[in-house]
Amino acid sequence: MTTTSTASPVLRGGEWLLQATDAAAAFTPEKQSDEHRLIGRTAQEFVDNEVLPVLDRLEQKDWDLARTLVRRSGDLGLLGVDAPEVYGGVALDKVTSLVISEKMARSASFGAAFGAQANLTVVPLVLFGTEAQKKKYLPRLLTGELVGAYGLSETGSGSDALGARTRATRQADGSFVINGEKMWITNGGFADLFVVFAKVEDRGAGSPGENNAQFTAFLVERGFGVKSGKEEHKMGLHGSSTTALIFQDVKVPAENVLGEIGKGHKVAFNVLNFARFKLGAMCEGGATGVIAESAKYAATRRQFNTPIASFGAIKHKIGEMVVKSYAIESLLYRTAGLVDASIAATPHEPTDGAPALNAFEEYAVEASIAKVFGSEVLDYVLDENIQIHGGNGFVKDYPAERHYRDARVNRIFEGTNEINRLLIPGMLIRRALKGDLPLIPAAKALQDELLGPPAMPSMDDGVLADERAAVAAFKKTALMVLGLAMQTFGPKLTDEQEVLMHAADILIEVFAAESALLRAEAAARSNSPKAALHVAAARVFVNDAALRVDASARQALAATVDGDTLRTMLAGLRRLLKVTPINTAALRRTLADEAVSKGGYPFA
Ligand SMILES: Cc1cc2nc3c(=O)[nH]c(=O)nc-3n(C[C@H](O)[C@H](O)[C@H](O)COP(=O)(O)OP(=O)(O)OC[C@H]3O[C@@H](n4cnc5c(N)ncnc54)[C@H](O)[C@@H]3O)c2cc1C
Repeated sequence: MTTTSTASPVLRGGEWLLQATDAAAAFTPEKQSDEHRLIGRTAQEFVDNEVLPVLDRLEQKDWDLARTLVRRSGDLGLLGVDAPEVYGGVALDKVTSLVISEKMARSASFGAAFGAQANLTVVPLVLFGTEAQKKKYLPRLLTGELVGAYGLSETGSGSDALGARTRATRQADGSFVINGEKMWITNGGFADLFVVFAKVEDRGAGSPGENNAQFTAFLVERGFGVKSGKEEHKMGLHGSSTTALIFQDVKVPAENVLGEIGKGHKVAFNVLNFARFKLGAMCEGGATGVIAESAKYAATRRQFNTPIASFGAIKHKIGEMVVKSYAIESLLYRTAGLVDASIAATPHEPTDGAPALNAFEEYAVEASIAKVFGSEVLDYVLDENIQIHGGNGFVKDYPAERHYRDARVNRIFEGTNEINRLLIPGMLIRRALKGDLPLIPAAKALQDELLGPPAMPSMDDGVLADERAAVAAFKKTALMVLGLAMQTFGPKLTDEQEVLMHAADILIEVFAAESALLRAEAAARSNSPKAALHVAAARVFVNDAALRVDASARQALAATVDGDTLRTMLAGLRRLLKVTPINTAALRRTLADEAVSKGGYPFA
């Protein structure tokens, strides 16, 4: 089975910051093929009919049941989307991976188990495994006969993953003996196969020890001697296993090195790039799904003899849930389209993982944005879902409190949101300094523009013209902040984390706002029956993004320069960000009313 999802021209990672995109070029949820929709329905029915009804048993830590569900997802082909057919996969595109992740989010606990298998075990094997490793493990992972887990974190090294203390000591026969402990491993209590990161001590070459240790990935079977610690008592995700893994003289054959010795960071970071994108998709699926709970509850709950859905304060919340969800959904589909277009543009054999590997690296900035923005949109939606449920939101009779607890970890794992925020401008700056992204000349051109006479007002008076102008201004604001920070701090910019965090926030707004805008433009051009709703969602997002971009830019500029330079910069910012506020209350009401009358997310 194959799916061709997109005809987008291949915009390189981060290039959206420096150029405008035509709406026709961006992939959107509306461009899904019948095959995407079919697999989405399969995943949704699986979760609705087979996972959600047994959630309580999963939360009682019935891991036999968890294994059965992993197998069922394998039977349905959901585990094999990213794997070649020759190993039992179904080799579909990344839009399909996104669609499946969205649907799996409806059960966050099982979604975590599924993600550890499909994203964190299957993907590293597909990308880095030898032919023999793939033949040996992939077919059984893809049917769910084997359950996988990913052991990177340790007690002392979470964000600083390369600081791992677990050691693999090379033996005379070429095998390795692993000693150490991994922490918080999803599926840790019942997995059969572990992707484990350890430092190889090569006693043959020079002195042993830290300086010589080479960070390396291994495929370790439980039968080699891996022991699980006790189940962690967690805030949420009670239906997902999280344990330590203990390695005490665990002997691993030489052929179970995954990738190259000393290149474990390549495995770890590339796998995380794609996993972050999929986590963003899970968060979006969670957010759009929960809108139904809020909308239905607000329609039936009466106070003061009135359904609470008719109060402006509640309409604001539901409207804003829709707006934020629309933005993250637009951003994810656009990115999946770019990844697919990039892979499709490179001729390759179906078993060749290199184009996918390159694409995940190319769109690493977008993946980090998807993770940060997705997890924060979800937290916003779930918090307001509780608020709309009032006291019922705080008690276990309703699912709202469980969603809230389950979601909190999304801002922590797959790289914390702080680490991902640092990566977003960090990776762009690195590309700029290498000459891969012409950010520095663009920042210089902007300086000249700001010193020159004001540009003539735009003649564009079409639908969303103001929003197009606003997004162009957000991009210039991002360039102004980044350019000034690079100029002021030079290589020491890495020490100015507050400035980098503000820059990341602006970049997230840019990519999200433009993605929402392009989708709404496409809907308006195609005279979609929902065009007015698309336009409403994009207009509200862009309007509010202007306020957030302005606030972040002011903070960043004031943390970078002072005195006359700061005053000049602030004057430039005022000139750039001339966005006239619109009546978002009316637009949010329209979106909220639609969600309530439909009983869910209006764009589903
Ligand atoms: C339910 C659950 C499941 C998990 N599943 C897995 C799994 O399957 N496999 C796996 O390997 N791991 C897993 N993890 C571990 C997870 O990836 C780590 O918890 C995460 O990477 C953060 O590491 P840490 O907890 O050590 O926090 P720390 O790294 O100690 O971070 C603490 C705080 O400091 C901040 N911080 C750290 N470094 C910096 C810096 N340089 N600059 C600015 N701020 C910084 C962080 O953002 C955070 O706010 C799981 C965790 C949980 C809770």
